[in-house]
Order: sequence, then C-alpha cells, then structure tokens
Amino acid sequence: MTPLTQPPANAYIQLSQVNKIFKSPAGAFHALIDINLTFDRGEFTAIMGKSGSGKSTLINMVTGIDHPTSGVVRVGDVELGRMSEGKMAVWRGRAMGIVFQFFQLLPTLSILENTMLPMDFCNMYDRAERESRAMDLLRLLHLDDMAHKLPAALSGGQQQIAAIARALANDPPIVVADEPTGNLDSITEKLILNIFEDLASRGKTILIVTHDPVLAHRSTRQVFISDGEIINETVAHALSIPNNHKLKVSKAAAPHQAAPGAVLARQGAVDQGMIFIAGGNIQVMRQAKGSPIHVHTLHPGECFSQFDLLETEACGLFFSVAPDAPADLLEISYEKFNALVQEIPTLEPALRRQAAERGALYCPVKTRKSFWRSG
Ligand code: ADP
Ligand code: MG
Repeated sequence: MTPLTQPPANAYIQLSQVNKIFKSPAGAFHALIDINLTFDRGEFTAIMGKSGSGKSTLINMVTGIDHPTSGVVRVGDVELGRMSEGKMAVWRGRAMGIVFQFFQLLPTLSILENTMLPMDFCNMYDRAERESRAMDLLRLLHLDDMAHKLPAALSGGQQQIAAIARALANDPPIVVADEPTGNLDSITEKLILNIFEDLASRGKTILIVTHDPVLAHRSTRQVFISDGEIINETVAHALSIPNNHKLKVSKAAAPHQAAPGAVLARQGAVDQGMIFIAGGNIQVMRQAKGSPIHVHTLHPGECFSQFDLLETEACGLFFSVAPDAPADLLEISYEKFNALVQEIPTLEPALRRQAAERGALYCPVKTRKSFWRSG
C-alpha cells in the first residue's frame, strides 16, 4: 500500500496543512481545517461550497490577503507570510489579478485610471506605455467607451468588467476571483465567463469561487469545500449526494495503490465495501465458460460498491485493475461502509441507482437467467 500524500512535482500553488481559526468575543471559529491542496500551472479551477463554508477564507490564504493560523502556503517558489506586508503587496500586484464580488473600484478615479492603478503601484511598464496598455485592455473587454467615466456612471456588470481589466493590468500569471458573477445579470455573467475561459486558454492559472454550476462546468477542475474542509475530488465527482454527506464519505476513504491485474471485488465474497478510482482503470469482468468476458471499464472519478455486486447477483462478476498499469484507489472497508450507509441516508439510494443502471450493462437479463439455470 502506497499512501498518496506527496504533492505533484509541478504544483504551482500549494497549501499544506492549512488551518484558519478566527477568534472573536463569541469564541474561536475553525474556518479552515487541515487543508492540503495544490493547483498546477494553467489549471482553471472552480471552488464551490455553500455560503459560509470557507471559500473566501481559502482564497484569502492563496492571495496572502489573510494568513493561516497554522500551515504553509506557497506560490511558485515564494512562501507567503515570509515577506513584509509592503513587499507582499507589490509581489501580489505582479503575480496575481484579484477580482472581488463587489468590484472595489476607487470611486474618484476614472475607469481608465482604475485600470492603470496596479501598473503604477507595482511600477510595471514604462510610465508612457501604461495608459495605452490600459486602453487596449478596456477595448478588449468592450469597455473603452467608458474609459473616462467614473465607476458610479457604469452598471454593476460594467463595473465588474472594469475590475477584471484592473486585475489583468500587469498581465499576471494567476487570476483569482471571488464570486465575480454573484451580483450580475445573466448577459454580463456570460460575458465574464467568456473572459475567464479566454484567459484559461492563454495559460493563466485561474481560481474562481462560484455558486454557479454553469461557470463550474466551464472550468477544468472543481474543488468542493464543506464546513472548512475539502471534499476529496474523486469522491466529489463520483457521487451525487449533498456536499456534507460527500465530506463524510471522503473522510472514511483511505488511499491505496493496487497492482496491475489485482482482483478488487468478486461476487460471492461477503466483505465488499466501496472503492473510488482516482487513477488508472478498473475492468469489470463476467465469469463465463472458459475465460472471463470483459464487460465494462470504470475510469478515474467513478466508484463501485457492494450494491453493484448485489444488483447483479447471478452473473459472476468481478472487478480487477487493468493489466497495463496500477490503479490509485480510495477504499472504504466493509465495516466502515456499513456504518456510513446507516449514518448517511442519501448514500444507499444513490449507489443502488447507479448499480441498477450498470446492472443491465454488466449482465444482460438473458445472461442472468442462463447463469441461474446453469449455476
Ligand atoms: P464563504 O466565502 O464560503 O461564504 P467565508 O470564508 O467568508 O465563507 O467564511 C467562512 C466562515 O468563517 C463563516 O462562518 C464566517 O462567518 C467565518 N468568518 C469569516 N471571516 C471571519 C472573521 N474575520 N471573523 C470571524 N469569523 C469569520
Ligand atoms: Mg465568500
């Protein structure tokens, strides 16, 4: 068994064992709990979770706007929190474009001046070049008509697009946005989605906090947070149950690597719990006269459980790792699985539904009957 705890070598943004505790007169509040997360260069990630789950707190750790109570945040080769606030602000201005939910444009500066602000602050580009660069950006985002107006003269959507222009002023490699479309009409929202998609296609590393499933689907990766904890991404992808339920399942699952060809579950064995596939492929095989038949392949982001075996009781199924490569799995033991099914009311129905859909695929009804007769 190999635990999968090593962060990938190409991690660009890396949070290790990050905790955040807010202290207030009412007591301490644990807003982020043991967060281990990495983002690669060029990844376009949507961060999702209920209101109050810790999304903004998490984002503020990445931008260095706030500091963890314990743990380490790295961006590239910079460890945040080691620099003075002043140096940090300049570094952030060059490395990151940040878009907030409520725009935060300076009300007494024109849209053009707002857009130039990060260049001035970080002393990027020749002074003479700044205005034309800012104007180019506004033109790109179809806001050049508004360049000389004050923010108050613009609609909410236009102000948010101006805030995006400002975030992009220094051409930062990372763009971080906290619910950028939270308060906007659907047309502006679409426009903003297109902007982020375009940035992603140009290789920017993007983190967006959003409630919006449409936006989340346009991203290349979704990270779910529930009550300050990250839900394992494989579990999040594999199950359609509420986030707090996914989190419980996620905590019960233990990583392990299985060798090529290893048999993971077999009909007739009574101790089957649940397995999620994080990497590699699992072949579903059906026992037949002579050699077994390969009936289906399960891929990363899928799972199976004892219900898959119960559903297709008669046809002699087994699940094995594909012969060409090992598989990275998350396993829940039989005992833990049975306890979870009792504790989480949505789990059994979701798994039974999945098993019923697959049953027909694995063992056509005709086969099931003939297996009964012959066996
Ligand atoms: P989200 O962005 O997902 O809505 P937040 O990250 O803003 O959630 O907040 C997560 C939790 O931490 C909430 O319960 C919130 O009340 C609490 N929290 C956030 N900031 C502070 C703070 N400065 N002091 C005390 N509690 C805070
Ligand atoms: Mg928030």
